[in-house]
Amino acid sequence: MSTEPENNPSGGATELPFQAEVQQILALVINSLYANQEVFLRELISNASDALDKARYLALTRKDITEQAGEPKIEIKLDDDARTLTITDNGIGMTRDEVIHNLGTIAKSGTMEFLKSHADAMKKDPQNSANLIGQFGVGFYAAFMVASRVDVSTKSMLPGAEAVLWRSSGSGTFTVLPGDKETPGTVITLHLKDDAREYTKAYRAKDIVRKYSDFVHFPIFVNDEQANRSRAIWALPKSQVTDEDHADFFHHVTEGMDGEKPLMTIHNSVDAPVQYHALLYVPEKAPFDLFHKERRGLRLYAKRVLIIEDTDKLTPPWLRFLRGVVDSEDLSLNVSREMLQENRTLKTIEQQIVKQTLKVLKDTAENEPEKYTKFWGEFGRVLKEGTTMEYRHKDAIAELCRFESMKTEAGKLISLKQYVEAMPEGQKDIYYVTGPGRKGVEHSPHLEAFKKRGYDVLFMIDPIDEWFVRSVTEFEKKTLRSVAHGDIDLGAEPDAPKEEMVASAVVAVKGALGDKVKDVRLSKRLTDSASCLVSDQGDPGANMERILRMVDQESTERKRILELNPTHPIIKNLAALAAKEPDSERVKTWSQLLFDQALLAEGVVEDPATLVRRIQDLLTQVSSAAV
Ligand code: ADP
Ligand code: MG
Repeated sequence: MSTEPENNPSGGATELPFQAEVQQILALVINSLYANQEVFLRELISNASDALDKARYLALTRKDITEQAGEPKIEIKLDDDARTLTITDNGIGMTRDEVIHNLGTIAKSGTMEFLKSHADAMKKDPQNSANLIGQFGVGFYAAFMVASRVDVSTKSMLPGAEAVLWRSSGSGTFTVLPGDKETPGTVITLHLKDDAREYTKAYRAKDIVRKYSDFVHFPIFVNDEQANRSRAIWALPKSQVTDEDHADFFHHVTEGMDGEKPLMTIHNSVDAPVQYHALLYVPEKAPFDLFHKERRGLRLYAKRVLIIEDTDKLTPPWLRFLRGVVDSEDLSLNVSREMLQENRTLKTIEQQIVKQTLKVLKDTAENEPEKYTKFWGEFGRVLKEGTTMEYRHKDAIAELCRFESMKTEAGKLISLKQYVEAMPEGQKDIYYVTGPGRKGVEHSPHLEAFKKRGYDVLFMIDPIDEWFVRSVTEFEKKTLRSVAHGDIDLGAEPDAPKEEMVASAVVAVKGALGDKVKDVRLSKRLTDSASCLVSDQGDPGANMERILRMVDQESTERKRILELNPTHPIIKNLAALAAKEPDSERVKTWSQLLFDQALLAEGVVEDPATLVRRIQDLLTQVSSAAV
């Protein structure tokens, strides 16, 4: 074209205004600074891919379509000297009327609502509005983010259609004139702005293609070289996807960050209630940022086009170790403008993913215990969080949890189910002890009576376990009970001494300790140790207090109950001594030592120097009696 069409009305050029809404969009697109500019290419590729889909459909459904479009493909040509980017497809093309309608108005209903509801936010925060727009996608008009002029040369596949040329600088009007395209399809030429020159670089264009459109199911060429792999393996039947494909794709979606191979693969295609393909992986290794709650790694595609790279709308936080792709035919490319939170389709997909993942984990736990153990080692703590967040699946998640126990070797794990199955006759509840580690709990005096009866005790030695036991209070109708809380009554021992014989010890210790303890009582859980500290039912417990103190130094500690072992010689002797000389210094020292040693057994001594002095005094007495 030697002359501008505006100056050449006799050449068949028509200048038309954009629809008012389009002008608004264009103003936003052109005037803001876009952080996410590169999505323009995603939009154009997706339109080209749609056009190829439609062409295929038309060729299949209409006998009068004879034009040969050739092998479907998308070609991107870059010209650094002319500063142009051209994208060509041999798809359905557009008639003159279609061009005017499709590239001059917005048919999509949600677009305006989105713009209106975000107009204020966009004015206040232009940088953020850029992200918003970039993410929600403005379709074809995104081309004006990077181009000062766009030419569309197109010819429809429909019989008798004439070639058309559409061009615009995005400012208010566009021009339509007769075109010269001979074969059906569309060629879009972007005359890039000064600051968008980077898009004439092949590596840059290829990167964007790979990032957003790698699995578009038509080949995409950048300067004659294919840049995408064009195979949506998630949409293939399971049997057609090899382990190597999975390894490749896993590498692609994780960018090589999460180990070499997937540990588990969850591949599903669902048609109802919502159509989607999901190809999800559990990595072999936990990534370094697993405990950043906001980290989630599913890619959301709509009709094979990437919508969001890392979405948190498809998995709950406790499944954030999943990596992979969800692709739905029931989502529009502009899904994000509907505000993902409220999107029903996504909610439904999320629920399905949760169910499928729990099922795969359950199957793996049953059929491939070693693999499951590996999984548990990497991601168990994350999964466990689910019990505190997800009421609906709490029991299913609890069943997947694994713990060490008094009867397991260090590092070996059992499930709640295994625990219950191994319960001896007469045991009604599930018992656990919480603490900072196996060493800290395995010799705890709280376990003595359980050991004696052959009851196992679960070791809840992960900080999250304190929260686990608060939400999972029951499993298979059996109550989970802390061995260090409340009254534990395993039934009377046949050789238990009469309580009144040692009752005076309780009175004496209570008097000596004053308000250091909440109460003093005789214990039903001790067999070997003389004393231990327990928390009142409903109180947080020592381990929980320790965790809370790590977070909040000021957090105050709840007083605990000192339990005395009525069968222990020290307690018996103390009772006898207290009967004789209730207020003596010796009764006070012994009481204090019973308290100290209970703390010491938990690994805590508030005042070691005083404790040492008390022990020395006692040893002095004992040793002088011995010589
Ligand atoms: P959407 O793709 O969501 O419909 P766009 O703004 O991306 O919205 O595109 C508007 C319309 O322009 C498309 O629906 C399509 O009819 C038409 N269109 C755009 N690009 C092409 C193309 N390469 N070939 C044929 N038609 C196209
Ligand atoms: Mg589009």
